[in-house]
Amino acid sequence: MQVHIVTIFPEMFPAPLGAGIVGRAQEAGLAAVHVHDLRGFTHDRRRTTDGSPFGGGPGMVMRPEPLFEAVESLKLPEGAPIVALTPQGAPFRQADAERLAAEEVVTLLCGRYEGVDERVMAELATERLSIGDYVLSGGELAAMVVVDAILRLLPGALGHAPHGEAIADDSFTSGLLQYPQYTRPAEYRGMSVPDVLLSGDHAAVERWRRNEALRRTLERRPELLAQATLSDEDRKELRKLGWRDA
Ligand code: SAM
Repeated sequence: MQVHIVTIFPEMFPAPLGAGIVGRAQEAGLAAVHVHDLRGFTHDRRRTTDGSPFGGGPGMVMRPEPLFEAVESLKLPEGAPIVALTPQGAPFRQADAERLAAEEVVTLLCGRYEGVDERVMAELATERLSIGDYVLSGGELAAMVVVDAILRLLPGALGHAPHGEAIADDSFTSGLLQYPQYTRPAEYRGMSVPDVLLSGDHAAVERWRRNEALRRTLERRPELLAQATLSDEDRKELRKLGWRDA
């Protein structure tokens, strides 16, 4: 997989994208992340990427020409997604990470200042994604979030277990929040690990984990239950916990 990131701050990317699973995925050749300096696509001595907004108002807006030229220089395959990061975009969800992880080439455009000329957003970008309902000073952190979420899904990236198994229980992938996890020691400052996890009874552990995932989702993100695939047993368990099936 190839990921292209277009930014005026390329120096922000090496550390966050060089460590851990995302760094290893690149070392293993599962993905290549190319960070492009937008200023390389300007034509004036001062390498200007912004201009004042038509109609007046505070701040600056990113000009369209360097962004169009940067994307054109990539010679993207027909239909490859060009994602503009913007607080006005659709919320970025696990399903988007799964969808983008199946692409061969993904391009991410990072805005700055007061935002980006609307011709880029409407005509160059094929989609707009937001990482949350807050305003960052630039799209770079959002691009890092998107790249991290995508690259860990690439087959072989997680390393420690068969791919499907490693991600199937993840929050959101399963449709639920993940069950609570524990490790050694079994007893710490009077806090014990639930007995069932030490029992060696795999079926009991699986049922406990499923019920805890259901409980946790009902308590913290009940709206996810409407989209989750639930068995009759799950529904029974949820009703015991006070869930009102729609
Ligand atoms: N004035 C714009 C508005 O109100 O929609 C916000 C511009 S923001 C200061 C500058 C850039 O940061 C945006 O162009 C975008 O690339 C990025 N950005 C800010 N918040 C973001 C978010 N929640 N998700 C994704 N990108 C974001």
